[in-house]
Amino acid sequence: MAQVITKCRLTGHYMFMGMDIDPKEFTGSPGPFARKYCPFCACEHVWYKEDTKFLAAKSVTRPKVQQAS
Ligand SMILES: [Zn+2]
Repeated sequence: MAQVITKCRLTGHYMFMGMDIDPKEFTGSPGPFARKYCPFCACEHVWYKEDTKFLAAKSVTRPKVQQAS
């Protein structure tokens, strides 16, 4: 599973979609997959799978605890 971030086509900024998905299934068919409010455009618009990147859930849930000594 992975976190979904999608690029706003108007501003080029990436936004967290708040979704946890399987990248293989998600990218099976291209096109718009969600309609959400965009804070960069200050309006609601569709978001496309082609503009989407994935963040591994592991790196999100596991904070770095290394300490220099
Ligand atoms: Zn936007």
